[in-house]
Amino acid sequence: MNTTAPGRLADHGTPLQHSFRLHRIGARLQAAADPLPQPTGTEVLLRVQACGVCHSDLHLADGFFDLGGGLKLDLAKGMPLPLALGHEIAGEVLAAGPQADGALPGQRRVAYPWIGCDACPACRRGVEQFCDRPRALGVTRQGGFSTHVMVPHPRYLFDHGSLPQNFAATLACSGLTAFSALGKAAPITQHEPLLIIGAGGVGQAAIAIARALFCVGPVVADIDPSKRDAALAAGASDAVDPQDKELRRRLLKQTDGGFAAVIDFVGMPATAEFGLSTLRKGGKLIVVGLFGGSLSVALPTLPLRGVNVVGSYVGSLTEMDQLMALARSGVVTPTHIETRPLADAQAALDDLRAGRIRGRAVLLP
Ligand SMILES: [Zn+2]
Ligand SMILES: [Zn+2]
Repeated sequence: MNTTAPGRLADHGTPLQHSFRLHRIGARLQAAADPLPQPTGTEVLLRVQACGVCHSDLHLADGFFDLGGGLKLDLAKGMPLPLALGHEIAGEVLAAGPQADGALPGQRRVAYPWIGCDACPACRRGVEQFCDRPRALGVTRQGGFSTHVMVPHPRYLFDHGSLPQNFAATLACSGLTAFSALGKAAPITQHEPLLIIGAGGVGQAAIAIARALFCVGPVVADIDPSKRDAALAAGASDAVDPQDKELRRRLLKQTDGGFAAVIDFVGMPATAEFGLSTLRKGGKLIVVGLFGGSLSVALPTLPLRGVNVVGSYVGSLTEMDQLMALARSGVVTPTHIETRPLADAQAALDDLRAGRIRGRAVLLP
């Protein structure tokens, strides 16, 4: 179905696109205004109505991930500067190219941002988040710290039903990341318990989704008392302080030998070590957080304890589809969201870096 001629705009369109962009690694975001891009082929132009601010945006602004031991993983190579960051995008379809079947002006949608090249082995296997030639929104293509964003194909757009847009936007990264990690932790029951380390935006999303998937709340560990309170309010079965010297012994006793799965949403040496030390034999440590550093493991303990250490990075398009169906059914309760005007993009990044954001900050253009 052809919706509008290429580039024809719905009546409420604005002729300019206003963005906050990273011009140089490590620099502060700068405001920019450009002519509105026009969709061609299968492209869909969204008017951004909400865009979440993620820890990954900080790593992108810094241009690297910390690998520990003074090593860095360079992110700058794949980033087209100047770049509008922002990959948790919800908005309204403004215009669609002639081959963008099904995209109609006025539809409210969440964008799956982890877009691949559509040709490589990872893309053919349906895990385009691992594509080596990614077209990821806000990472290797212009993202949602902007009034508008171009999505290459309508298959990356998801109906969010009656969910509020500022919550729906966060499903594209924090929700999807939590959902994919929880899928790797399954099955979780009262007797196969789950520990979540880190109750920031993604950890909080995971608590709500874990309750929806497993009907049992996870134990949550966080050093911040206010985040522990938020975790309990979100449905955690217990919230503990990992700085408590007696904690490990107490958890091993409470769980009758350790957790079946631990999800580390922080990803620093101390959290991963704590996670490994609280696993039962045969348990699974799922590392999600990208804080950085390295983990030293006594190799014989891997076979002797039969533990699995796996990584989980965002999620696939199929997982996004499953998550959106779950969320539309209303069982995934929104986490705490702080809304900010788009013009506060840099301030929101600063507050996130300083730990001043509880839950998720969402920019509203
Ligand atoms: Zn993210
Ligand atoms: Zn690919």
